[in-house]
Amino acid sequence: MNSHAQAPCAHPGFGPLPRRLTTAVRIGGVDVGGGHPVVVQSMTNTDTADVASTTKQVAELWRAGSEMVRVTVNTLEAAAAVPRIVDKLAMMGVNVPIIGDFHYNGHQLLTAEPACAEALAKYRINPGNVGFGKKKDSQFATLIELAIRYGKPVRIGANWGSLDQALAAQLMDENHALPEPREAAEVLREALIRSALDSAVRAEELGLPADRIVLSAKVSGVQELIAVYRELARRGKYALHLGLTEAGIGSKGIVASSAALGVLLQEGIGDTIRISLTPEPGQSRTNEVIVAQELLQTMGLRAFTPMVTACPGCGRTTSTFFQELAKTVQEHVRAKMPEWKISHPGAENLTLAVMGCVVNGPGESRHANIGISLPGTGEAPSAPVFEDGEKTVTLRGENIAHEFVALIDQYVERKFGVDAARGG
Ligand code: SF4
Repeated sequence: MNSHAQAPCAHPGFGPLPRRLTTAVRIGGVDVGGGHPVVVQSMTNTDTADVASTTKQVAELWRAGSEMVRVTVNTLEAAAAVPRIVDKLAMMGVNVPIIGDFHYNGHQLLTAEPACAEALAKYRINPGNVGFGKKKDSQFATLIELAIRYGKPVRIGANWGSLDQALAAQLMDENHALPEPREAAEVLREALIRSALDSAVRAEELGLPADRIVLSAKVSGVQELIAVYRELARRGKYALHLGLTEAGIGSKGIVASSAALGVLLQEGIGDTIRISLTPEPGQSRTNEVIVAQELLQTMGLRAFTPMVTACPGCGRTTSTFFQELAKTVQEHVRAKMPEWKISHPGAENLTLAVMGCVVNGPGESRHANIGISLPGTGEAPSAPVFEDGEKTVTLRGENIAHEFVALIDQYVERKFGVDAARGG
C-alpha cells in the first residue's frame, strides 16, 4: 500500500480514465505501476556530498508532496553521504524512498560503498553511459547484480541527450542497407526505445525480475516524447516513469511538460511522473512537485490539495481584491493540507471557487463545495457565499478574506473532521 495512495477521482459524466496495466514495482514501500495511482517524483539539485543541504531539500520536497526523491550519486563522497542522509531523514520522520542517480561510475560507487547500495530504495542507471565499448556489458551486469544482491529495483532510464551511440550507429547502418531507408530522426527514436527495452530484457536475463524494473526514455520535444512512450507502452509491460527532460524554465517548462504528459496520462500511459523544471533564480525546488500534483489533480487522476476555481477577471472587476483572495485561499489550503491529510482525510477533494462578479460568480460558486462571488465594479458591495450549491451567508466590509478562509476551515471541520468520520 502506498503511503500516499488514494483512489482515482470520479469523473462525473466521463467514467474513469483508462490505465494501462503494467508490472507493479515496489520502491521503498511505494507501489508503482500495476494500476496503482500515478506517483509523483522529484530530484534534488544540491551536492549530495553535502549531507545537511541535501537532507533539508529532500525534506522540503517530501513536505510538498514528493513521494520519491532522486539524488545524484556521482562521487565516492556522494555515495558515502547517502546512508547518512537516509538516517537523518528517518530521524526527522521523513519517510520517502531515496533513489540514486548513476552515470558512468555507478558500478564502482555501489561496489565501494555497500551502505549506499543498501540505503537507496532504487538505482537509476542510464544505458547510454553505463559503460563504453567492451566495458559496457560487464559494467551493466555489475549494476544489475548489485541490485539483485541488495534486493533493489532499477530504473533503466534512457535519455535523448546521452543516447547509446553504439546502438544508434548500428541501427543507422542497418537503415542505410534498407531499400527504402527511414528518416534519420525515426531511426534515432527507435535507438532510444531499443536502448531502454533491450537493456530491460538483458537485466531480466541476468536475473532481475520484471517487477523490479522501471523504464523511461526521455526526450525534450513534446511530440517526440509522446511517440516514444506510445511505443514503449505498446512493446512492453514494464512500469513507466514519465518526464519531459530539460523541459525548461517558467511557463514554457510547465506548458511543455503538461502537454506531453497530459496526452500520455490520458491514454493510461505512465506510472510515475517528474516535471523537470529549471527553477527561476531563488525559486524553491518544490515548484516541480506542485506542478506534477496539479497536473494529476486537474486531470482527475489523483487528489492532493483542494483546488480553487477562479475567474480570470475582466473589465467588470477592476480591483485586484478577487485576485488576492484567490491567491490567499489557494495558499491557505495548500499550507493546511499536510495537517488535514492526517486530521481531515478527504479534504484534498474539496473544490473552491473565488469569482469576480455576478455574471458567472453565483453559478460557478454553486458548482463548488464552497464558493464566493465577489462584487464587481458597480455592484452592491456584498459577497454571497455558497456551500454545496446553497447560499449560506453574505459577507461585507473589510474583512471578507479573513471570514471566507474561516468558513473554509469550518466546512472542512464539519465534513472531514473527527465528528464527520464518526458520522456525528
Ligand atoms: S465572472 Fe465576472 S469578473 Fe470574472 S471574468 Fe466573468 S464577467 Fe469578468
